[in-house]
Amino acid sequence: MIELRGVSKTVESGGRPLTILHPLDLSIPSGRFLAIVGPSGSGKSTLLGLLAGLDAPSTGEILVDGTDITRLGEDDLARLRGEKIGFVFQFFHLVPSLTAFENILVPMEIAKRRDAVARARLLLDEVGLFDRGHHYPSQLSGGEQQRVAIARALANDPPIVLADEPTGNLDSSTGRHIMDLLLNVRSARTSTLVLVTHDAELASLADARLTLRDGRPVDAPVEALR
Ligand code: ADP
Ligand code: MG
Repeated sequence: MIELRGVSKTVESGGRPLTILHPLDLSIPSGRFLAIVGPSGSGKSTLLGLLAGLDAPSTGEILVDGTDITRLGEDDLARLRGEKIGFVFQFFHLVPSLTAFENILVPMEIAKRRDAVARARLLLDEVGLFDRGHHYPSQLSGGEQQRVAIARALANDPPIVLADEPTGNLDSSTGRHIMDLLLNVRSARTSTLVLVTHDAELASLADARLTLRDGRPVDAPVEALR
């Protein structure tokens, strides 16, 4: 369960405070699929970064399975992220000096999993790249890089998967395949999925949608999740 209480974000812009996310309350029960939609600049990535503990809110609490992540120190936060959260980025964010296989291995080595090597092979297979493990990101297409990134995000079987426009940088047919893959691997694991997307069709697949505009929810907030 993820619970946000009065979560906001204010940054300094041109020497003045600018609120990019206004105080927001939101509950996402475990195993549900929430889509976050809204125009560019509406605060979607800001919200996702806060959920992931990649950024700290200006006000409010973010409870992940009862732990307020805004009160954790860097080490505890990093551990919680490694155990609970898989993040898929628009621009893949693979480590360029590591092969596909090694990119998938990293989070499992950090988690000191003994089955890391065998599991990295399984994950590569699951995303359809069994024979591409030795390739570097620069030798892979955008769609293939995103497959690796999905495998990496799922490596430690996180109960929460966050994806920020994972198909935004891919052509529509590749994007469709990536989304099918993400939805399939996620449903096999019953993890919570929070997906930022511009794609109305994709958003319609979610259990609920949160539409942001100028850092505020539009309409009543996500009744379907309650
Ligand atoms: P979205 O993902 O919906 O496109 P973002 O969450 O990235 O929107 O950004 C929301 C708004 O906040 C944008 O106008 C962006 O320019 C602004 N913004 C984000 N981060 C900062 C920052 N660190 N400093 C100043 N403005 C920021
Ligand atoms: Mg964004």
